[in-house]
Amino acid sequence: MTPLNAETLLAAPAANRFDVARVREDFPILQRLVNGRPLVYLDNAATSQKPRTVIEALNRYYSMENANVHRGVHYLSEQATAAYERARRRVQRFLHARDSSEIIFVRGTTEAINLVANTYGRSRVRPGDEIVVSAMEHPSYIVPWQMLCEAQGGRLRVIPMNDAGDLLLDEYERLLNPRVRLVAVTHVSNALGTMNPVKEMIAVAHARGIPVLLDGAQAAPHREVDVQALDCDFYTFSGHKTFGPTGIGILYGKAALLEEMPPFQGGGDMIRSVTFERTEYAPIPAKFEAGTPSIADAIGLEAAIDYLERLDRPLMEAHEAELLRHATEALAPIPGLRMIGAAREKTGLVSFVLDGIHAHDVGTIADRDGIALRAGHHCAQPVMERFGVPATARASFAFYNTHEEIDALVAAVHRARQIFG
Ligand code: PLP
Repeated sequence: MTPLNAETLLAAPAANRFDVARVREDFPILQRLVNGRPLVYLDNAATSQKPRTVIEALNRYYSMENANVHRGVHYLSEQATAAYERARRRVQRFLHARDSSEIIFVRGTTEAINLVANTYGRSRVRPGDEIVVSAMEHPSYIVPWQMLCEAQGGRLRVIPMNDAGDLLLDEYERLLNPRVRLVAVTHVSNALGTMNPVKEMIAVAHARGIPVLLDGAQAAPHREVDVQALDCDFYTFSGHKTFGPTGIGILYGKAALLEEMPPFQGGGDMIRSVTFERTEYAPIPAKFEAGTPSIADAIGLEAAIDYLERLDRPLMEAHEAELLRHATEALAPIPGLRMIGAAREKTGLVSFVLDGIHAHDVGTIADRDGIALRAGHHCAQPVMERFGVPATARASFAFYNTHEEIDALVAAVHRARQIFG
């Protein structure tokens, strides 16, 4: 069978193409106007839009099913508990985890990382120990480790990258000394779109007995993730970037590690028994889910995963690859435009600067045309420093974006040059 890539996709008969017009109908917000123009939403790395099925799942839950979980014996509470646990099993299948007890519901990637830093980290990191992160991390992936190192007397080590935005793997190997307690790297960079060779990186760390946590916030919306095939020890992602609601995210952890780790927060639901003298904690995953969870949002995330998995994934990925190719080729010849990040493997994201024009001005001109771009340091100041720029304009794509939308972006960049250049 011919593998599907951008070229075969373009040559393919219509039936073998990703039907963008059809999927766009599923996203009510894509039908609206912004500043009198059809919305062109190119800020998917910040948050993605939601299909109608997700919105309806939230509406149905609050209209007909709302109750607290794990505590009532009444009909609605039992229904809500069943739905919440069904959502957990859905996420388990989505990530190909071995068991649903390895799936912890959290608020998002940031909370998942803080959970690992405060439980696994605090129980393992001693003075002089090290945590290895990469030069392209989001602050969610830097600050919790810095806080941990400050509290425990540990040290943060950083894997450098080259001018294309690829990590230097020789340097990475050199950093893995016996003091390293954890490697915490991003699967896909939010600032550059670089897709890191995480499977190889995990194998190298494991050969030295070092566990690995992957930040999947920018990977889960675009690629199939198999935590068992990757053999990562922890994996995180955010519901709101994966076509689901805000307020819900996932921490996957291998059961053996989660069982050993102390709890994160104390409260209801994470206990088996409690007296004033002593508390016995609940087994995983409940041990890490203190208090009333985001029940509706977990159910909304299940609907988002259902939606995503009903799409033809190879066609969807080929469509996103084609959007990236088109954007890269159409933007590159613009005089004074410099692309930031040209990694070997990228997801659908372009970051660029225009000579003498601030990224915010590009964003403002685009916004007048109803185009949503991100302009700034994208919560990645160390990445901006590495490339010697204060900020970039970033367009990040999802499967519902079109060639025409990229053409609109290119026209807006030309206009910004005319006005400010
Ligand atoms: N990691 C990466 C790579 C991200 O892009 C983001 C958000 O932009 C985060 C972590 C934080 O995600 P959240 O704000 O959903 O917790």
